Amino acid sequence: MTIRTTSGRGRLYESVVDTVGDTPVIRLNTIAPKNVTVYVKAEAFNPAASVKDRLALNIIEAAEREGRLKPGQTVVEATSGNTGIGLAMVCAAKGYPLVVTMADSFSVERRRLMRFLGAKVVLTPRAKKGFGMYQKAKELADANGWFLASQFETKDNADIHESTTAREIMGDFDGQRLDYFVSGYGTGGTVSGVARVLRKDRPDTKIILTEPANAAIVGSGYINKRNDAHQPEESHPNFEPHPIQGWTPDFIPWVLQETLDKKFYDELIPIPGPEGIAWSRRLAAEEGIFTGISGGSTVAVAMKIAETAPEGSVILAMLPDTGERYLSTPLFEGIPEEMTEEEVALMKSTPGYQMEG
Ligand code: PMP
Repeated sequence: MTIRTTSGRGRLYESVVDTVGDTPVIRLNTIAPKNVTVYVKAEAFNPAASVKDRLALNIIEAAEREGRLKPGQTVVEATSGNTGIGLAMVCAAKGYPLVVTMADSFSVERRRLMRFLGAKVVLTPRAKKGFGMYQKAKELADANGWFLASQFETKDNADIHESTTAREIMGDFDGQRLDYFVSGYGTGGTVSGVARVLRKDRPDTKIILTEPANAAIVGSGYINKRNDAHQPEESHPNFEPHPIQGWTPDFIPWVLQETLDKKFYDELIPIPGPEGIAWSRRLAAEEGIFTGISGGSTVAVAMKIAETAPEGSVILAMLPDTGERYLSTPLFEGIPEEMTEEEVALMKSTPGYQMEG
């Protein structure tokens, strides 16, 4: 084997925002059963390390194109983190002030990341759930004449997945088998946008939608009420807090409604959060692929499909973000800071450089 060489991307980038997208699809080599091939699309390769960089960029650029966003106007959005981090990256690069509203239940590293990227973060009470942070963003936008990004309603969300994420999948699987595409939903932008293309160009690919088992709001069959602007008017009665950050807010978003109305999914498979956490850990420790709880949960569903899938099936699972965003969450629970017994034994196995005590 000769040494690996690389030759650059063949271009100079004018802005960090031009590096959004074109994330790699990677085969799992260890943890998938032998009867199938499982690939993951690793969105952590985006500049602010999540799938939401795509939507953040298009919300701003579509508003710029259509004159809805004025130079220097403040942008405001309710977000559990990744959209805020993506928007903070885009707004910093393009010179817009950003205010994010966020329930205080989401991980502290997300708040600090957004502030690090120059945004202001206004916390809302966790008891008021996603609905509360959302109402707060609306209130602030109305009171100050700010631009509300509206990730849950805007067509700019699924559109960018149709024009980037889906095209990348089509290109990478050109001439290759692709039997299943697996995705959860937060806004539903990923699944709605990708499904538009798969249904048309790869109609044999089964689309598997997933949601947290204890917050199975799509599975309940009940659609929450919405106002004329398609914004939720109530918290979904079947929602319960769940550990899969970024997935399933406490309402069915308008952007996801397209997937429900057009039957963009073939099967809905709920997944318990702890299973997602377990698979995220296995992806990291056994494949070297670092993703958050939603990525682990998507792979958990891919593994369930693998149990009954025909021999040789090819499954693609979305990995929405990086595991580094979860240091203070249950994903890292039990990962020690101090040396374990095994590590202490290793330290003592040679005479030099031993810690005291
Ligand atoms: N996983 C994580 C970690 C996310 O932040 C999001 C977006 N909120 C998703 C999954 C779901 O993506 P989408 O909004 O496109 O449905």
